[in-house]
Amino acid sequence: MNDSDCLFCKIVAGDIPSTKVRETERVLAFRDLNPKAPTHVLVIPKDHYANVAELSRADPALAGEVLAVAADVADADGATESGWRLLANSGANAGQEVFHVHFHVFGGKPLGPMLA
Ligand code: 5GP
Ligand code: ZN
Repeated sequence: MNDSDCLFCKIVAGDIPSTKVRETERVLAFRDLNPKAPTHVLVIPKDHYANVAELSRADPALAGEVLAVAADVADADGATESGWRLLANSGANAGQEVFHVHFHVFGGKPLGPMLA
């Protein structure tokens, strides 16, 4: 189930290039185009869900797989010991810009109390 107008569906399809860091049958992780930390990776389900609520209610197992891949990404970038942050914006007040659910993995520097 993919959305032809969705930027991240186009990245999944390979129609828009990305720097992939990890991939499973149902999950893709790729570097953010405008990184806000040394490690800034986006982890997404390949199928299109608009936000965390849609994903976790429709397919909790897939939501869990996305989180496991996020942890693997932190491991691979050497951020597990130093610490890292997982962030998912949902809706306008949170500043969600791409309406294909994605988890930001931040690491590689002290992140402060919040990352705006
Ligand atoms: P949001 O604000 O929706 O949580 O975050 C969207 C993120 O997607 C932003 O951090 C932005 O830099 C990133 N982004 C937007 N367009 C592209 C793109 O074409 N490729 C990649 N790799 N990241 C993108
Ligand atoms: Zn999509």
